[in-house]
Amino acid sequence: MTTYPHMLAPLDLGFTTLKNRVLMGSMHTGLEETKDWDRVAEFYAARARGGVGLMVTGGMAPNREGGVFPGAAGLFSDADIANHTNVTTRVHEAGGKIAMQILHAGRYAYSPDCVSPSAVKSPISPFAPKALDAQGIEKQIADIVTAAVRAKQAGYDGVEVMGSEGYFLNQFLVTHVNKRDDEWGGSYGNRMRLPVEVVRRVRQAVGPEFILIYRLSMIDLIPDGSTWAEVVQLAKAVEAAGATILNTGIGWHEARIPTIATSVPRRAFAWVTKKLMGEVSIPVITSNRINTPQVAEDVLAEGCADLVSMARPFLADPDFVAKAAAGQAQMIAPCIACNQACLDHTFSGKMSSCLVNPRACHETELVLSRASAPKRVAVVGAGPAGLSAALALAIRGHKVSIFEKASQIGGQLNMAKQVPGKEEFRGLVDYYEAQVAAAGIDLRLGVTADVAGLAGFDEVVIATGVAPRDPVIDGQEGPNVVSYIDVLRAKVPVGKRVAVVGAGGIGFDVAEFLVTGDSPTEDLQAWLEEWGVADPSDTRGGVRPEGPKPDAPVREVTLLQRKAQKLGKNLGKTTGWIHRAALQMKNVKMIGGVNYERIDADGLHVSYGEARENPTLIAVDTIVLCAGQVPERSLADALIAAGRTCHVIGGADVASELDAKRAIDQGTRLAATI
Ligand code: NAP
Ligand code: SF4
Repeated sequence: MTTYPHMLAPLDLGFTTLKNRVLMGSMHTGLEETKDWDRVAEFYAARARGGVGLMVTGGMAPNREGGVFPGAAGLFSDADIANHTNVTTRVHEAGGKIAMQILHAGRYAYSPDCVSPSAVKSPISPFAPKALDAQGIEKQIADIVTAAVRAKQAGYDGVEVMGSEGYFLNQFLVTHVNKRDDEWGGSYGNRMRLPVEVVRRVRQAVGPEFILIYRLSMIDLIPDGSTWAEVVQLAKAVEAAGATILNTGIGWHEARIPTIATSVPRRAFAWVTKKLMGEVSIPVITSNRINTPQVAEDVLAEGCADLVSMARPFLADPDFVAKAAAGQAQMIAPCIACNQACLDHTFSGKMSSCLVNPRACHETELVLSRASAPKRVAVVGAGPAGLSAALALAIRGHKVSIFEKASQIGGQLNMAKQVPGKEEFRGLVDYYEAQVAAAGIDLRLGVTADVAGLAGFDEVVIATGVAPRDPVIDGQEGPNVVSYIDVLRAKVPVGKRVAVVGAGGIGFDVAEFLVTGDSPTEDLQAWLEEWGVADPSDTRGGVRPEGPKPDAPVREVTLLQRKAQKLGKNLGKTTGWIHRAALQMKNVKMIGGVNYERIDADGLHVSYGEARENPTLIAVDTIVLCAGQVPERSLADALIAAGRTCHVIGGADVASELDAKRAIDQGTRLAATI
């Protein structure tokens, strides 16, 4: 008897059967754009081997004008079919099923050639779209249908028509983008004509025995988004037009409400999909912030949906389903929803990967092969860098010992997991504990490694991390000054009025910690209120007319930096706005361009600009120092002085711009070479 009977139950679609209820949702990884189709094929084949029921590819443009950016991958010509056949063949050989997503970006296309129902620019694009005429609309439909036919020729098991997230088809549904007065605009019946017509004609062209998923925006999270009645009307029409499965889309890209970030509670939107259950007779998929087998199981057992979609969890661990089925859920590398190596990369034009699994999208290049001559390797430091190195070394057959001076593993992850909205880091530390135990690594906790103790190892990896940077502020030895480590690790008392010195990732985290009482990430109702999410049955688009209603801040916090630029500029590309908005909702004052003059019993004295003008007292009870970090290399230096060689990784190597992503990537890549 499995622990996940609902998740692992097969689903009979009539003409084909999915082996379980797990869909790997579409992700734009950048792989297809490399044109290295073996690499693309291996990415999907690895996930097929891992047991997922059905995968959906990254969005493929049906034509040039519909591409998310110039050069976006698509199935533009019959010549592309062979490349895609390589992918489908490898997936089928691995026992998997795969559907190709057809994504027409409409006005979200980053191109002056973008098209939309009306010439209304989106707030997240510099380009005003061209309004399509009736012939232009017909061409878009025909191109989508052609892409579906080519997908079938390429051996895909189906297609997913992307109708949500504010993309082209979604744009026709709402009046702020669709201002047409022809048969494609005006009444809701006319506005939904395009998505329904697309589904109808795709079905006609591909025949009955081909999976056709329609991804439907169930809660737009924009002020004049669809009502629930409209969602249901569209869902029924799409079913009647020939869809096999309905997938859930949550929020337009221009919405100012987070939908997948780590601070979004798990399964935060399953209740929205649940509202559709019973309204249609085809299977319905739910989505967003489902990242463990138990959450997936619960959502299905509670009748929120027939299937669950998870996307990023399959970057973190291709074997998610196989491990769950084998009763090894604790061995699944958890997606912590950080976006740091996936979406942040995508939006920076870089290849996606995964913070917890640097092999994601690098399957053919970063290979952990069996070492020909196993060695005895000491890894000093059990933070993300040391742990990832140790585990990869163990996979390769080396005999690994970890020396960690603390009484637990995890390093700075243990501080991150204290921050409201970063609870997912707990699961990452738990995962490392399970992996270290299973790998048979000799773990020496509470042991400070020294040069003598490291004799006898063939290789030494130094992952000793970082130490806080001393900001050298006059008066910082006073009793009202603490460091971020005191706050997040030792939980020292902090007054009601606080100045945070330094506005990097840690300064933002500390500010969040200090202003938040109970974490809304652990209380869905509180989180929905905090961000102003309502039931779309009550209010258009599911946006509360009164706006967000956050809990009052538990402290008065001022966040400071010396640079005169916007605070949080270097935070994650896709999540920085969320951190800034969250702190603004808690009335955190953000001040840049300061000089720290001195600290005394009254608080922090600052001045402004090079001329040190406008001396100001920031009257606070406590000052928290978050002024960055410097490498902790004393052991590496001692080893080198003793004539030993060692490998230095993570913060001990370079502390600036350090994050877990770089640490884990560096640790894994080093291990691949020893
Ligand atoms: P950081 O991002 O480098 O920020 C250091 C902050 O301290 C900056 O605001 C800097 O601004 C200030 N600072 C630097 N030298 C100073 C000095 N001598 N005196 C006073 N202030 C000084 O470092 P961090 O905040 O310690 O974070 C470490 C790393 O962890 C970051 O790189 C980050 O990527 C990662 N992290 C990320 C997140 C995340 O949300 N993604 C969260 C936590 C940590 P000024 O120089 O302008 O004063
Ligand atoms: Fe998940 Fe972060 Fe990995 Fe993206 S980078 S898949 S959000 S853990």
